[in-house]
Amino acid sequence: MHPDLERIIRYQQLEDAVEQARRTIADEPLRQHDLEARLAAAQTALDTERGRLAANQAARREIEKALSMQQARLSKFKGQLMEVKTNREYQAMQKEIEVAQHEIQKEEDLLLERMLEFDEISTHVRSAEQAFASEQAAVAAERAALGASLVQAEAAAARLATERDALAAQISPPVLAIFDKVLKYRKVSAVVPIREGRCGACQVRLRPQTVNELRRNEIVFQCESCQRILYYEAGMAPVAAERPIAQDPHHD
Ligand SMILES: [Zn+2]
Repeated sequence: MHPDLERIIRYQQLEDAVEQARRTIADEPLRQHDLEARLAAAQTALDTERGRLAANQAARREIEKALSMQQARLSKFKGQLMEVKTNREYQAMQKEIEVAQHEIQKEEDLLLERMLEFDEISTHVRSAEQAFASEQAAVAAERAALGASLVQAEAAAARLATERDALAAQISPPVLAIFDKVLKYRKVSAVVPIREGRCGACQVRLRPQTVNELRRNEIVFQCESCQRILYYEAGMAPVAAERPIAQDPHHD
């Protein structure tokens, strides 16, 4: 393979890897924000249930207050019943007692309703607490993983950029100039493999004669349509992202 071609392919791979590491770094605040939002949502759900429970307890206290007031009235009327002198007074007091008893019954029914509701809301509070706790644990774990991946991405970005820059010094300036120009214009992939007789990026069909010429990867050839540098991939050993650059003694 043409040494410049081999290096520019590797150079593109390093460029991609640096870009990927940078994207991971750039996405980090967004991912942190997502985690915070998840936790906030669980907190809101919990707060809502706790709020319902507090409202239930406040309503219950009001009912209990009304109940004890009616109970006080009832015992007052019952006491007064002993002291009435006339049948008319007796009947009037009986009526008051009935009203108070009716009110007490009403308040007791309301109280029971609130107590049943209390049990139901308590169940919701407990499950919201559990959900919050597990979300908290999950978010903490993801935050730790995110922190670790950030450190890793920062180290990788620095290491890969150093490797890429060192490699740049070994590529013929005109080839590197083509690369820079195409990448600047196309944004992604200045070096692409041929796929089924077409440019792997812009898909323009290449002349069979060109494909044949490129088969041995002995020339630095640009796609006539998108200007990208093309290479033939079949049978090529895949270049691992971590593999050190093969040093060519003739180019040092
Ligand atoms: Zn093309």
